[in-house]
Amino acid sequence: MSGSGNDARDPVAEFDGVSFGYGGTPVIEDVSFAIERGEFLGLVGPNGSGKSTLVRLLLGLVRPDAGSVRLFGESAHVAETGTRVGYVAQTAASSGRKMPVTVREVVRMGRYPHVPHGRFRSEDRAAVDDALATVGVADLERRRLGELSGGQRQRVFIARALATEAEILVLDEPTVGVDANSREAFFDLLASLNREGMAIVLVEHDIGVVTTYATRVACLNRKLYFHGDADRFTESDALTRAYGANQRVVHHDHD
Ligand code: ADP
Repeated sequence: MSGSGNDARDPVAEFDGVSFGYGGTPVIEDVSFAIERGEFLGLVGPNGSGKSTLVRLLLGLVRPDAGSVRLFGESAHVAETGTRVGYVAQTAASSGRKMPVTVREVVRMGRYPHVPHGRFRSEDRAAVDDALATVGVADLERRRLGELSGGQRQRVFIARALATEAEILVLDEPTVGVDANSREAFFDLLASLNREGMAIVLVEHDIGVVTTYATRVACLNRKLYFHGDADRFTESDALTRAYGANQRVVHHDHD
């Protein structure tokens, strides 16, 4: 069954000798690492270090100039991963303000790939109910997206990915514009989804969040300065090396 992309032992994703540039100089250089099932990976690095680009490579939106990116065992840019990857963009907290749709409708949209001829069955309604409940927005289901806070909107987008039965959540600085209390609750939600088996990739500028919540860390600045367990990252000098002496490192305590 080689190439089927469905082997449960495959890592979720694999970067192998990946380099990429937007035309000229590489912004990603010779990066190799894997994301295993059930892993919570925190991706850190200074501004402009290539984190969002790495996410684009992971999602198959751009192709590497050298090396390969595999997602569920297939080349990321050809893999049919629409239902297996849930992507929450940095702008998700502020986007959708003007969309005249309710919370439930957004989450229902996530279910469409599983619904034959658009006809929702009781199991599809149950999947939507479950997703709304899991992220804690069931009581908001009739509210319009525009009436929610940034943190609540982010939860709705996660619920949509859960309704789709995504196997990995990819979040690019999801709490930009979200207040401090909601941020913490949001990361707690990610940790609990991860405990249930969801693989998570979180791009996050707050190192404290990453070392508190992620189980694995990838530290990037064009090249990969560190990849391994979060505990080992804290003890290593990778952060200083990747950020350089003059970079401001955001590091709040999250006890
Ligand atoms: P990060 O997410 O770590 O801030 P990015 O991946 O967004 O970093 O950017 C890495 C580098 O690539 C930066 O120098 C950025 O200016 C450049 N870059 C990002 N997107 C594009 C693009 N669409 N076209 C050209 N250059 C880009």
